[in-house]
Amino acid sequence: MKEKTTPFNRPYMTGKELHYIAQAHFNGQLAGDGPFTKRCHAWLERQTGSAKALLTHSCTAALEMAALLLDLEPGDEVIMPSYTFVSTANAFVLRGAKPVFIDIRPDTLNIDESLIEAALTPRTRAIVPVHYAGVACEMDTIMRIAQRHGLMVIEDAAQGVMSTYKGRALGSIGHLGAYSFHETKNVISGEGGALLVNNAEFSIRAETIREKGTDRSRFFRGEVDKYTWQEVGSSFLPGELVAGFLWAQLEEAERITRERLDIWERYHQAFASLERDGTLRRPIVPADCGHNAHMYYVLLASSLDRQNVIAELKQRGIWTVFHYVPLHNSPAGLRYCRAEGDLPETCLAGERLLRLPLWVGLSPQEQARVIETIAEVLTKRA
Ligand SMILES: *Cc1c(COP(=O)(O)O)cnc(C)c1O
Repeated sequence: MKEKTTPFNRPYMTGKELHYIAQAHFNGQLAGDGPFTKRCHAWLERQTGSAKALLTHSCTAALEMAALLLDLEPGDEVIMPSYTFVSTANAFVLRGAKPVFIDIRPDTLNIDESLIEAALTPRTRAIVPVHYAGVACEMDTIMRIAQRHGLMVIEDAAQGVMSTYKGRALGSIGHLGAYSFHETKNVISGEGGALLVNNAEFSIRAETIREKGTDRSRFFRGEVDKYTWQEVGSSFLPGELVAGFLWAQLEEAERITRERLDIWERYHQAFASLERDGTLRRPIVPADCGHNAHMYYVLLASSLDRQNVIAELKQRGIWTVFHYVPLHNSPAGLRYCRAEGDLPETCLAGERLLRLPLWVGLSPQEQARVIETIAEVLTKRA
């Protein structure tokens, strides 16, 4: 008998996307910063409390803008985890800076804030906390360290849309924050992202960098009488069709988050007993963190072979995935970056972590089958 296949991810559409795209089409304004982009900016600013939100093509683009805003010079150092997506480091390497990797905390798998000060050198310019799985890093401590040493903080909040730390939106706490609306995230536009500019000092320059290094935005506001090339920038803004799609998603962001949290909770309760018997470890969410159920992962016991588990689940119609291959061991990481020690917790997560299907529309029945099959596969092997 052929069993039903449960994909790892299925992009969720609210149903309004094509309607808003048609409206943008009808408006006849397809370039960026039209009515839908403005609505998205206003929503993001209201939702996060950030002084300024700017849509970008991706979180990668937002991180690249942040790196440009810092005026980094070759050899400047930026502290970040190795257990993250490529773009966290790549954005800074593009400016000639050197990512310095430190280990993650064993509980949240976020940057271990207690290791930051030991990694500082006279060249250190910034810290990049990555809010893994939409669970906040220990931001109070990180901001205190940054203030003490005159460093900038750029939050990679790619996974953190609708998450909070002590009631504050992720991405709005550091000097700059970056969101992703990639189709694998919670709120999507295919490819897409946003830069949150939390310090007024960056406000004008962020607009300039996003508009090919020109003061075009100021020209359209009537603040200057012509627009010219002001500094190094690029084209970081999405067109209105993408913004229209995103608007349909932002309108439903609260419901999307609630539905994901329900699925997350069902996994969490179902796997409590497997955690008790040592088969796996469940995610840990500190009390200060309001998370967005971006991800449900488990850390498999060392007795389990992850590749076999993935293969066997796939055979039974359930798609699970792993990540990250730690950046400090990657070919580009070895060439452009430095690691502080051998990062044992990073390596452990890189070897043991398994991500489970989590998407809006995954029914309780289908999820029950996923849970049951995973329990069978894992306990058979334990
Ligand atoms: C998804 C992701 C990114 C990149 O986002 P894009 O929008 O695809 O550029 C960066 N950092 C982290 C931690 C991510 O999860």
